[in-house]
Amino acid sequence: ATGPHWDPLRKELALTDTDCIFCKIASHEIPSTIVYEDDLVIAFDDLSPQAPVHTLVIPKDHYRDITDGVPAETLAAMTHAIDEVARAKGLTDGFRVITNKGADAGQTVMHFHMHVLGGKPLGEGLL
Ligand code: C5P
Repeated sequence: ATGPHWDPLRKELALTDTDCIFCKIASHEIPSTIVYEDDLVIAFDDLSPQAPVHTLVIPKDHYRDITDGVPAETLAAMTHAIDEVARAKGLTDGFRVITNKGADAGQTVMHFHMHVLGGKPLGEGLL
């Protein structure tokens, strides 16, 4: 998002560049290592990687998490971006996608994001 805008789904003003770090990354106000970008989404390398490849895919508009009324078109763009990340990073043997919502999941940045993890065998468990 490039500024405050009325969100018809939440019936409130969406957060702006001034209060969300991932909005600032989406608008290039804060630099990041961009892996893929289009009109709806941006993918960039996580600052604290938990695997040889750890890239975050986020919508450019602000949604708190996966349950926050994300439009189907945006979810489809994120799925496409995951595929582009896998191609760019050479994840030919597979990868894992994780998204956290809320305290029990340990969500720390309240702007919906999907973690793309790979580059080594990650094990068979979910965690
Ligand atoms: O899912 P969760 O909210 O815990 O993940 C947030 C992720 O965002 C972390 O992996 C953290 O390293 C990353 N991050 C980042 N750049 C920032 C702030 C957080 O890559 N400026």
